[in-house]
Amino acid sequence: MALNPQDLFDVRSLLTEEERSVQDTVARFTDERVLPIIGGAFDEGRFPKELVGEIAEMGLLGSSLPEEYGCAGLNSVSYGLICQELERGDSGIRSFVSVQSSLCMYPIYAYGSEEQKQRWLPDMAAGKVIGCFGLTEAHGGSDPATMKTHARRDGDDWVLNGSKMWITNGNVADIAIVWAQTDDGIQGFVVEKGMEGFAAQEVKHKMSLRASVTSALFFDNVRVPEANRLPNVKGLKGPLGCLTQARYGITWGPIGAAQACLKEVLDYTGERILFGRPVAATQSAQIKMADMARRITTAQLLSLQLGRLKDAGTMKPQQVSLAKWNNCRMAIDIARECRDLLGGAGITTEHAAIRHALNMESVITYEGTETVHQLVIGRELTGINAF
Ligand SMILES: Cc1cc2nc3c(=O)[nH]c(=O)nc-3n(C[C@H](O)[C@H](O)[C@H](O)COP(=O)(O)OP(=O)(O)OC[C@H]3O[C@@H](n4cnc5c(N)ncnc54)[C@H](O)[C@@H]3O)c2cc1C
Repeated sequence: MALNPQDLFDVRSLLTEEERSVQDTVARFTDERVLPIIGGAFDEGRFPKELVGEIAEMGLLGSSLPEEYGCAGLNSVSYGLICQELERGDSGIRSFVSVQSSLCMYPIYAYGSEEQKQRWLPDMAAGKVIGCFGLTEAHGGSDPATMKTHARRDGDDWVLNGSKMWITNGNVADIAIVWAQTDDGIQGFVVEKGMEGFAAQEVKHKMSLRASVTSALFFDNVRVPEANRLPNVKGLKGPLGCLTQARYGITWGPIGAAQACLKEVLDYTGERILFGRPVAATQSAQIKMADMARRITTAQLLSLQLGRLKDAGTMKPQQVSLAKWNNCRMAIDIARECRDLLGGAGITTEHAAIRHALNMESVITYEGTETVHQLVIGRELTGINAF
């Protein structure tokens, strides 16, 4: 029997029944609900907010958090598969779920009080409250310790001033997890839409992640009650802990994007007749596509092992860095090569390759650029910090 071109090493056989069922459910959603509309949404520069309700109903928001907070209580491998199948549709949809789950619900769960968890997590799992995560500032996202946004205690409140840049979901969010300098180190605050002095402005003219909202956030003497401060973490380890969660999911997403591109060129080159034979019958096209399958397979095994380590509680941030670097590089290269194999047809969003290639420009940059992750590995190998 022929091997599955999307899964040459039968990685699916390494999954549990529950993991396979999660993958199938999300795959169906992507095929039926995302793929028919996503090219148009990307063209229009529109986040398809109408999908949020269904995403929530499937239990994809905060899927790894416990059922007592209205979440699905799935394992990390299942979360990875969710990211993979969503990004097979579009990185923007996966980004929405990553931000809501790993960057907003996770810090409330990990660093919040019981009252904060009860107040926000069930509504966030249900998609009734959307979150965004404000860490990056305009003067240098790779070096977040230099953040200028600050909060000063004033009676029962904190007074927040500053700004954040490149914030996914910013304009559609009901709450923002905002990291700010305080007299006691960096702390996290839940800033609510409508608080006086808080504004979001959408970033326009993006050529990447066009089906996702990206915004700048502004804080002008915003009074945030002490009850909205995340009490259980101080310092950069707070936001970095969230990023490890999100980056883990991001290692899986690009696998889906690359699989979508490979499937598209397998179909296309099989039918495209040039010089009297299908392009797929040429050695150069076959070598290119074989090499794509090799890189996708490597990425699948890397993420699955990472997920098993995460579920065993032994995953290290350096391992996440290696996988994020490898898998983003794999997907951006494959998407570009697929765009080339589609010829002129590859330059419109009628085919997915250019959309995935453009999206991957963001995915390889956010949550730590490729260089940042390379330097993390370099430091691990040499013991020398070269940042
Ligand atoms: C679409 C999109 C969505 C995003 N969503 C969010 C979000 O929801 N929340 C959030 O907080 N942030 C978000 N970000 C921000 C993202 O995390 C940052 O863009 C990223 O961390 C890089 O920061 P920067 O853009 O300031 O680039 P810089 O940090 O200025 O980097 C510029 C260049 O310098 C390189 N570089 C950095 N350090 C070194 C070094 N030591 N040696 C050599 N080269 C180096 C980088 O690799 C890069 O090539 C998003 C970004 C994008 C594009």
